[in-house]
Order: sequence, then C-alpha cells, then structure tokens
Amino acid sequence: MFKGGLADSSEEVTKLHTATHLLHASLRKILGEGVSQKGSNITYERLRFDFSHPQKLTDEELTKVEDLINLQIEKKLPVSFEVVSLDEAVKSGALHFFAEKYGEEVKVYTIEDFSREVCGGPHIKNTSEIGHVKIIKQEKVGSGLLRIYAKLG
Ligand SMILES: [Zn+2]
Repeated sequence: MFKGGLADSSEEVTKLHTATHLLHASLRKILGEGVSQKGSNITYERLRFDFSHPQKLTDEELTKVEDLINLQIEKKLPVSFEVVSLDEAVKSGALHFFAEKYGEEVKVYTIEDFSREVCGGPHIKNTSEIGHVKIIKQEKVGSGLLRIYAKLG
C-alpha cells in the first residue's frame, strides 16, 4: 500500500491515512497481535482496512476499537517519522505490510508510543487534526479475513 506515498494527498485522504495507522494499532491492542494487515484502500470519504482475524468483531469490540482510536486523537499525539534501514525498522518492531516491496531504506512513522509502522506517508503532523473516527461497517471477506470501513466526523 501507500508505495512511495499516496497518489491522492488531499487533506481528507491524509487524515484518513493517519487514522488507518491508529485503526491498525488499536485492532492489535484490542484483538491481539494475530491481527495483521492484508490490504488498505482510501478514498476522500472513507478508509477501508483488511486484516486477518478468525471471526467478526462483537459490537463491544468495535466500540472498544473506535474509542481507543478517538482517545489517541483527543491526546493530540505528534506524528513523526525517521528514515532507517528496513532491517532496523523490522528489528525495532515497526509494523510492515508483507505484501509490499520496500527499498533498503524506509520511513518509519511513529505516533508516540501507540503506533510504529513502515510507510511512505504522507501523514498529518498531529492526531488532533483527524477530529473523530467512526467505524461504519465490517465485513467478512474471506476465511479469516475481515474488512472494516471507517470515516471521519
Ligand atoms: Zn502510513
């Protein structure tokens, strides 16, 4: 995903991109580290995130994930990046998308101690810019594969 940066880097899309990192980290914190990203797609009006998980989330889990994302927004966390070797990034525990092909040097985007992910960007500078994230739908799209849609506002 996001190879060398998004094709569309409009403000809304950039916010949704940072929201995707928060969603990914939140899913792992609520559901466990078995969650791994299988795909992602962003339009100007919503994000879509595919990940591995054996069954649909309960309403309670969905609420927990959404609340955890919005808590990071309320905390006004800075979003920063550093350029390191892919090896270093992986050793430091940065999440990376296995289907992606990375160069030897990669950007690691960090949202304080909440999220650390290899990514080409672009991202907003502070989570407070996102405003509010609402999960609008989840679907089971394959065996052990879920899809979540979320929007801003
Ligand atoms: Zn990213």
